[in-house]
Amino acid sequence: MTDLFRRLPASCWSAREGELALEGVKVSEIANAVGTPFYLYSAARLRENWRTLADALSPLGVAIHYAMKACANKAVVSILAAEGAGADIVSGGELTRALGGGIPASKVVFSGVGKTDAEIAQALRAGIHQINAESYEELWRIDRIAGELGVVAKVALRVNPDVDADTHAKITTGKKDNKFGVDAHRLGRLDNELKAMANLRLVGLAVHIGSQILTTKPFEEAYGRMRRLVLAMRERGHAIERLDLGGGFGIPYRNEQAPSAAEIAEVIRATVGDLGCALAVEPGRSIVADAGVLVTRVEFVKEGTERAFAVVDAGMNDLMRPAMYDSHHDIVPVRLPDADADFTTYDVVGPICESSDTFAKRRSLPRLAAGDLVVMATAGAYGATMAGTYNARALVPEVLVEAGRFAVVRRRVSVEEQLGWEASPDWLGSAAG
Ligand SMILES: *Cc1c(COP(=O)(O)O)cnc(C)c1O
Repeated sequence: MTDLFRRLPASCWSAREGELALEGVKVSEIANAVGTPFYLYSAARLRENWRTLADALSPLGVAIHYAMKACANKAVVSILAAEGAGADIVSGGELTRALGGGIPASKVVFSGVGKTDAEIAQALRAGIHQINAESYEELWRIDRIAGELGVVAKVALRVNPDVDADTHAKITTGKKDNKFGVDAHRLGRLDNELKAMANLRLVGLAVHIGSQILTTKPFEEAYGRMRRLVLAMRERGHAIERLDLGGGFGIPYRNEQAPSAAEIAEVIRATVGDLGCALAVEPGRSIVADAGVLVTRVEFVKEGTERAFAVVDAGMNDLMRPAMYDSHHDIVPVRLPDADADFTTYDVVGPICESSDTFAKRRSLPRLAAGDLVVMATAGAYGATMAGTYNARALVPEVLVEAGRFAVVRRRVSVEEQLGWEASPDWLGSAAG
C-alpha cells in the first residue's frame, strides 16, 4: 500500500485527519472551494527541485533556462524567476509569459523550428539573450529582420546530433529524421554564409535530443558530439562562446530510476566542462512535474462485464499525456485507505467521447465510490499547458499552495465565457440572438 504514495514527494505531502494534504492544506478543502477538476502545485516542491539542480550545476557555472512549455502559469514562473531562473521559450506567447512572470529578457533563449517574422522581431525588440536557430533558412530570416530593426542578433545554431534519446518516439528530437536542428555534417555551409549575414552574430551551438531521458548515456553521446563540433568550428575560425545543452532530464512516473542532478552535472563536466564556453541547460519537466497533481472526482464506478470503470470528472482535454504518449500517472485516493482496505482493478477514464480518454488501464486501487476525490500524480509538467476545451468543457483551473494557504492562480474559464470569444457574423441572421 505504501506504493500508493510513492510519487507524492514526502517533503510537501502529508496526512491530515485521514486525508492527503499538500503543504498542510487538505486537498478536499481546496476541492470544496474550487470545484473539480483542477491542477494543484506546491511552491515548496518547485523551489526544492530548482535548488537541487541549481546547486549541482552552479559550481560548473551552468545557467538554467526553464523550459516554459512544461508549465507556463504566471505564479509558477514568478516563483522560478525569484530563484534566478532564465527561460527557454518556443513562441512569442511564451516570451510574453516569461516577461510577465518576471524573467528578464536578458535571460531568455528562443528555440523552435517555426519562428515567424513577428516572433523574431518581438524577441529582438525585447533584447533577449539568444535565439536558437534551427535551419539555414531561419538564419537568413533572423539576419533580415535584425537588419530591418538595426540590431545585431545573437544566435546559437541548434545542431541535430543524430543521437537516440531512447525515449518515447513522440518526444525524441535529436535523431536525423526529426524536424529539429541542422544536421551536424552540414555545418560547413556556415563558413561562407555567415560572412554574408551582417546583422547576425553566431555566438554558440545548441542541442536538445528529447524529453524524459532516463539514462546518462544519450547525454554523454550528444554532449561529446557537441564538444567535437565546438572544437572543429573553432578551428575553422568561428568564435563559439556559448553551448546550450538543452533539457530532457527524465523523472520517475512510476518506479523508474532517473539520473540525479549530480550525475547530470558530472556528464557536463566530463564532456564540455573544459571548453571555456558559457554553458546552459533548458529543463522543464524535471523542475515542475512532481510539483503538481491533477485533482479529480469520481463520478461513477461502472461495473462492466469484463472490468470495472472509474469514470472521473477530468478528461483528456485537461491532461492529454496518457492519450498522446500512453504515459503513466499514479492515481492516489485523497481519503487514505485503511490498512486492510480492499483493492480492486479499475480502468480510470474521463467523460470525453473518445476511447483514448483513458488515464489508466487495469489499475489496482482501493475500492472507489462515486464522489471520492483522487489525485493524478506527477502532472505538473505538460499538464495544464496542454489543456484545452474539447467537448465544450471549461478550461481547467490551477491552484498554488504555499505553507498552509492556497490561491487560484488560473480560474476556471467557463463555456459562457468562451462563447464570448466567438462571434456569429451578421449575415447569418440573428437566430442566436
Ligand atoms: C521541450 C524542450 C525543452 C524541455 O524539455 P524537458 O524534457 O521538459 O526538460 C528544452 N529545450 C527545448 C528546445 C525544448 O523543445
